[in-house]
Amino acid sequence: MEEFTSLFAKQEKIYPKRTWGRYRKLKWVTMVTLLSIYYLVPWIRWDRGAHMPDQAVLIDMPSRRAYFFFLEIWPQEVYYITGLLILAAVGLFFVTSLLGRVWCGYACPQTVWTDLFVWVERLVQGDRNARMKLDQSPWTLHKWTKKGLTHLIWIIIGLFTGGAWVFYFNDAPTLVDHLMHLDLPWSVGGWIVALTFSTYLMAGFAREQVCQYMCPYARFQSAMFDKDTLIISYDEKRGEPRGKHKQGESWDNKGHCVDCDSCVVVCPVGIDIRKGLQMECIACGLCVDACNNVMHKLGLPPGLIRYDTENNRQLRKQDQQPAVRLLRPRTLWYSALMIAVGAAILYGLLSRSPVEFDVMHDRNPLFVKLSDGDIRNGYNISILNKTGQDQHYRLLLEGLEKATVKVQGFQDMSTDDLMVFADSVGHFRIFVSSPEPIEKRKTLLFIIQTLDKQNTETKKSVFLSKD
Ligand code: SF4
Ligand code: SF4
Repeated sequence: MEEFTSLFAKQEKIYPKRTWGRYRKLKWVTMVTLLSIYYLVPWIRWDRGAHMPDQAVLIDMPSRRAYFFFLEIWPQEVYYITGLLILAAVGLFFVTSLLGRVWCGYACPQTVWTDLFVWVERLVQGDRNARMKLDQSPWTLHKWTKKGLTHLIWIIIGLFTGGAWVFYFNDAPTLVDHLMHLDLPWSVGGWIVALTFSTYLMAGFAREQVCQYMCPYARFQSAMFDKDTLIISYDEKRGEPRGKHKQGESWDNKGHCVDCDSCVVVCPVGIDIRKGLQMECIACGLCVDACNNVMHKLGLPPGLIRYDTENNRQLRKQDQQPAVRLLRPRTLWYSALMIAVGAAILYGLLSRSPVEFDVMHDRNPLFVKLSDGDIRNGYNISILNKTGQDQHYRLLLEGLEKATVKVQGFQDMSTDDLMVFADSVGHFRIFVSSPEPIEKRKTLLFIIQTLDKQNTETKKSVFLSKD
């Protein structure tokens, strides 16, 4: 019978051992900082005045607004979000070209939550050997308790993660009140359940599999690498030939690697970095800490495994001085792109008008001939009042002599005083009448102005008088 060959490698459970050192500390600091930002930001209040949400960061789907501290983004201004996403992407490329996969090793949500889940696992079940022993032992009350407690804490963390996410889309204190009374819209409840489950699944079970098989960035980020990008590397020249070493023995003709496997057992993706840089390595630096601790015990200098560049590795092999090259064509390109996108966003924000408007000429009929011989064109005008106060606007027309302008349906409202409520859009139907102009298609300028003339917006349209 033909043997079945699986196309997928069997998942081997990884039991990362605890380590300590400079990079582990950096990972703790990053984790605490990022988690604090994630959980606390929805609780920052920001006074925007009456009838406006006072949450500093809020994506208000029903009223189609996004609030970021002093910024209020309307759907028409989604280009700011696009700009920020481009800036974030190019920033990530820039950091990757300089420092390799530091995003993956320290700041990626998958890494942060996996690290937190492993910490819980270690706290309840013990370090690597204890966890391995527990997994191999039969299902006793002791094992059920330890496993059950671990999964319970994981689910609680997942619940907090999903819970925090929905706060970004709702007023946080109000939502907590609804949560307490189990009075949630199904959509909010659905998001909490989905995010609780995905956090539990991704950080509790999928872990490094996400980085290896699911993450698209892991696949193409080597395109941002060059020979001056920092990578985690093992110094073969110094480490080989490797082998066990007894205290007091001479190091002559022996490398400094004592083959203790400390760098392998701490690795969260389960690789041996001594085999060279591998796609799975997330550059977390834990093997550097583990090896430095071993070197310290042996009384040898640290850095047998370290962050280094390919160029420096070659220079060291030739006994030449290593050098740091930050200014390279790709880093300069990424910097230029970031400056350009950042400047465009800044310019957009600084020149942002608190009023915007749109003019739509009627399509059917294009014009109407009145009994007195005048030609009348109809327009729909939308005025966006982006401020927190009701505003009055003046509508002016340029380009058509002797034209009269009327607002339909508002007997008392003249084009000199169009009122739009705070933070909303006013829709007006406008009729422009004029003796028949010579040109059948005349360009018109509609001007919207606040009564104090502080803000003015202009839009082009046409006045049609013949088919
Ligand atoms: S931790 Fe250092 S000494 Fe130990 S096996 Fe790894 S490279 Fe060799
Ligand atoms: S090889 Fe080292 S840097 Fe790479 S993932 Fe493993 S522990 Fe982290």
